Amino acid sequence: MPISKELLEYQTVDAELRKIEQEIAASEERKKFIQAKKFMETAGEKLEAQDKRARELKALAEKLTEEFEEINKTISDYADLDEMVESGGDIAFYKKSVQSLVERLRTMRGELSKLTADIENACEEYKRMKKQTISMQKQYKEYSEKFKEVKSARAEEVKAISDRLEKIGANIPPEILARYNVKRRERIFPVVAPLTNGRCICGMDFAIAQQGALSGGNVIECEHCHRFIYKE
Ligand SMILES: [Zn+2]
Repeated sequence: MPISKELLEYQTVDAELRKIEQEIAASEERKKFIQAKKFMETAGEKLEAQDKRARELKALAEKLTEEFEEINKTISDYADLDEMVESGGDIAFYKKSVQSLVERLRTMRGELSKLTADIENACEEYKRMKKQTISMQKQYKEYSEKFKEVKSARAEEVKAISDRLEKIGANIPPEILARYNVKRRERIFPVVAPLTNGRCICGMDFAIAQQGALSGGNVIECEHCHRFIYKE
């Protein structure tokens, strides 16, 4: 039997397998399973980002605290202001210094309220993330089971089709079959297509010389879409 006939028969049976694969892929069980799986895969990264943010906020809080202490110390130095003025200190200089302290305190107040809001937001985000992680862990456990059930419910059908494919495949040259399977994995389907008016189904034109190579049921690969082309 010409290769093209064997390949077409193989493809017809393979289409049944593909249909089952597509039904499984489109199932709610798989979608929920994949969603939870993807979440779990990126959860570590998200937690790390939150950790980093918490460290940044902590460093900011420490810096502000340090500055407060510095300012407190400076203010306590002014407890002896009378004495300092009496012993000839420049009052204009002290005034200026106090003025800058007041200004610094004012900006620090703004920084502190921003920091407080940032910490509250980070806490909220952490709580959200924790809740989501717990729910996704539950979903992962539940749906990895359900997805398994969906697959095993079709296992018999898949096995029967695979057996038929093996039988048909035994008549196809192994290197052609291997190439067919590569294309199939690359989601090219149909893998085998007829030449129509000198064209592949992707629209690629075949030269007359190339078309000659198709006689006797031979197949050639389309240069553009890499399908196997045959002549009807
Ligand atoms: Zn093509």
